[in-house]
Amino acid sequence: MKKLLLLTLFCLPLLSMSTGIEKTVSVYICTGPKATAYHASKECRGLNRCSGEVKEISLADVKEMGRRTCKICY
Ligand SMILES: [Zn+2]
Repeated sequence: MKKLLLLTLFCLPLLSMSTGIEKTVSVYICTGPKATAYHASKECRGLNRCSGEVKEISLADVKEMGRRTCKICY
């Protein structure tokens, strides 16, 4: 029982740490209507064709928007 408790205490900070990283990591999206992906770099050539603006956004937010990763820079 004591072992289980220790294991839980050990795992919880790890879980909150991974979501914390998603909030601090920035990715780049195009705000154009045809854009469906997000990018690791704003220099990505997938963003060159962007009809809107290139916007910096946190990884946690972009996942909520349901965008997929770019095939060029990921
Ligand atoms: Zn890209």
